Amino acid sequence: MTLPNSPEARDIAAHLHPYTNAKKHLEIGPMMIESGQGVYVEDRTGKRYLEAMAGLWSVNVGFNEPRLIEAATAQMRKLPYYHTFGHKSHGPAVDLAEKLVGMAPVPMSKAFFTNSGSEANDTAMKMIWYRANALGQPQRKKIIARDRGYHGVTIASASLTGLPANHASFDLPIAGVLHTGSPHFWRDAHPGESEEEFSTRRAAELAALIEAEGPETIAAFFAEPIMGAGGVIVPPQGYWPKIQEVLRRYDILFVADEVICGFGRTGHMFGSQAFDLTPDMMTLSKGLSSSYLPISALLANDKVLAPIIEESDRIGTFGHGFTAGGHPVAAAVALESIAVIEERDLVGNAARTGAYLHQRLSALADHPLIGETRGLGLIGAVELVADKAARKALEKPGQLGAAVNARLLERGVITRNMGDALAFSPPLIITEAQIDELVEALTGALDDTLADLP
Ligand code: PLP
Repeated sequence: MTLPNSPEARDIAAHLHPYTNAKKHLEIGPMMIESGQGVYVEDRTGKRYLEAMAGLWSVNVGFNEPRLIEAATAQMRKLPYYHTFGHKSHGPAVDLAEKLVGMAPVPMSKAFFTNSGSEANDTAMKMIWYRANALGQPQRKKIIARDRGYHGVTIASASLTGLPANHASFDLPIAGVLHTGSPHFWRDAHPGESEEEFSTRRAAELAALIEAEGPETIAAFFAEPIMGAGGVIVPPQGYWPKIQEVLRRYDILFVADEVICGFGRTGHMFGSQAFDLTPDMMTLSKGLSSSYLPISALLANDKVLAPIIEESDRIGTFGHGFTAGGHPVAAAVALESIAVIEERDLVGNAARTGAYLHQRLSALADHPLIGETRGLGLIGAVELVADKAARKALEKPGQLGAAVNARLLERGVITRNMGDALAFSPPLIITEAQIDELVEALTGALDDTLADLP
């Protein structure tokens, strides 16, 4: 029930929500979150929740970290805004660019700043096109991404995204963006196929797509090291070496979307390190500033940048950039967030508590509603099924996921269901005791849901 003039009623009246059923929202209204502390947030009624998604996979240092607040305040006092167009720069942008280039797991030569993961991927795509023209290869503009991949929602990045809800009624994807199969072994493997055989098949499908389109027309491949919003898909044995071999064979640029995986999530500083990836470009956001302020970045190596630098000279400018790109306050907060991650060894904590999380989730594998548990570091998911043998959930896809998600919310844990996969991606400061709290709530929510099933 929403009271007249309550924040809930005003939200219903004035606010169109992202990723929300806009019609249903008119009836049920919002859940108002008022404060955050550590791995917890509190709603307007004072109920506390363990935020097992770290917001949107992103509040890596936890809510209410004083050092980030201090960094923002100090920079806000000194220089609240400046841009980096037309040869201007400022300290936080220089420091952050240098830091990111220095910490990249493979040689990268420069950083370009944007404000969201979508903008970083959009920018990557524009730079790839610009480079193809610079190299005199105007036909080489096609981009390959993957089914169930997630790269954002702007026109280009939503086209890269391989999820139906991001395309339906938006007239997407745009021409020239192609999709190849997802690396979800549990769901997509043929009967009797081993992980290695499945990976070989996926790599062969990618090569066949490239051959069918014409290798001279394919510019780049975009992928998350571990798929996040597609349901936390950890690639199986042999997948990445085989896919990277195909990319090298056809000289196709590799863009690693590290928007979720970057900054410790997988128990490595970057997801690329977990799988020995050698991308030519990396897109970063979320954990970059622990989402305290919007900022994203794109790193590119010399192979990508050298032709772009020449082309900008031919045209007279690199005609791309955002008013708030490299915002000094956001950049200062990002630098401090990275410092906190490094000084407190939150990457090591993600590896250790992540291993504990997966051990506890695996122990639930015999529960009648669990089909698969998966993850690495502090990113994981359970795939819910109502019929274990058939690997099927309920009649309506997502219904079981939503039911368990709702039961968890009642028990004071915020998770997110992507269809019937229930994801976990808590702040990297989470302790084993808090993992116990999460898994106990999950067990209760699974039992409650099972009892409700007909
Ligand atoms: N790439 C990945 C892997 C993401 O998970 C997301 C967001 O969830 C994006 C890109 C898009 O980022 P944003 O929502 O900041 O545009």
